[in-house]
Amino acid sequence: MTCPCGLGAELETCCLPLIKRESRATTCESLMRSRYTAFVVASSDYLASTWHPTTRPKTITLHPDIKWLGLKIIETRQGLAQHHAGTVEFVARSKLNGKGHRLHELSRFVREDGLWYYLDGALKTGSAGQPKGFHQHPLSNSKAF
Ligand SMILES: [Zn+2]
Repeated sequence: MTCPCGLGAELETCCLPLIKRESRATTCESLMRSRYTAFVVASSDYLASTWHPTTRPKTITLHPDIKWLGLKIIETRQGLAQHHAGTVEFVARSKLNGKGHRLHELSRFVREDGLWYYLDGALKTGSAGQPKGFHQHPLSNSKAF
């Protein structure tokens, strides 16, 4: 199976080792991609463990009927192995009950003790819009979830 994250590699060698915790994401972009894949393969444990404790929701509910169609990384800032923070702007497309959904988000990540965590994200509306402010729980607080 090709990894859903969009890199084109096999799932077994791409995001799955991260989700199984056999290896660690060295950049915030690879964490972002593996978290998207975790949504696809419904690994809420991985989503919880890579969510920063200060912003992590008590429970992560994955909608069983949602179909993830693809992830596109638009821009990554900082977030490399030598950084302590970074942002990833992405578009994730999904479908629920025949209705398409497009999530355009700017996510913030922090690195603590060598591990990257998802902190929070701002939904983007319109291609030229600036984020209005960061809020918690971006991939699962929209109505589609
Ligand atoms: Zn992948």
